[in-house]
Amino acid sequence: MESATPVIVAIDGPSGTGKSSTSKAVAAQLGLSYLDTGAQYRAITWWMVNNGIDIDDPSAIAAVAGKPEIVSGTDPKGPTITVDGVDVAGPIREQDVTSKVSAVSAVPEVRARITELQRTIAASAVTGIVVEGRDIGTTVLPDAHLKIFLTASPEARAARRSGELKGADVHATREALIKRDAADSSRKTSPLAKADDAVEVDTTDLTLQQVIECVVTLVEEKRAGK
Ligand code: C5P
Repeated sequence: MESATPVIVAIDGPSGTGKSSTSKAVAAQLGLSYLDTGAQYRAITWWMVNNGIDIDDPSAIAAVAGKPEIVSGTDPKGPTITVDGVDVAGPIREQDVTSKVSAVSAVPEVRARITELQRTIAASAVTGIVVEGRDIGTTVLPDAHLKIFLTASPEARAARRSGELKGADVHATREALIKRDAADSSRKTSPLAKADDAVEVDTTDLTLQQVIECVVTLVEEKRAGK
């Protein structure tokens, strides 16, 4: 690729593999935008819960999927997310949303809506963008210049997540992560999956800094046309 072309980097993988920390740091280091697509699915889930929509009824979710206005700020040093103008960065990380997001994000109308939003944001990134999620390399941006699939053992992922959630029980966190991954991987519409042309990076025994360096090197190699 030519160095002036905006670079599109897709980073997928299950929860707790270091996707967000890696994606933000890589984007900041390379002067690119950053999009957390999980935050968008969490935001639409928050709206459904707040508006009394029955999460167990996919047709009720589908009927209102177009209603909430979700806006993502893409500065990697301070990403933001609002729904109908309300800052939801805090509430979308709460347990209630986390336990419901897989059901909401499995609804095809929700995915169509959010995917369109993601493509518009990626297309408007001037220098390029790092987009993290579950289906970015396979579905949202299949022509991304670089696709990374992060993995890690369930133990490492649970330990990282319970560290983030201060004081959370590692065993319970592990069970919840495995349940969410299973739901995300088995849904019919754009499940969590590694794209055939993605580079898989197992982060189990790597520090965050090592993962960041690995991805930065891969982006630089792409830009240099290697
Ligand atoms: O990455 P995070 O854990 O915040 O994602 C929350 C949820 O959003 C995932 O468990 C999944 O259900 C959904 N998601 C998705 N597709 C993406 C990103 C996230 O379905 N590209």
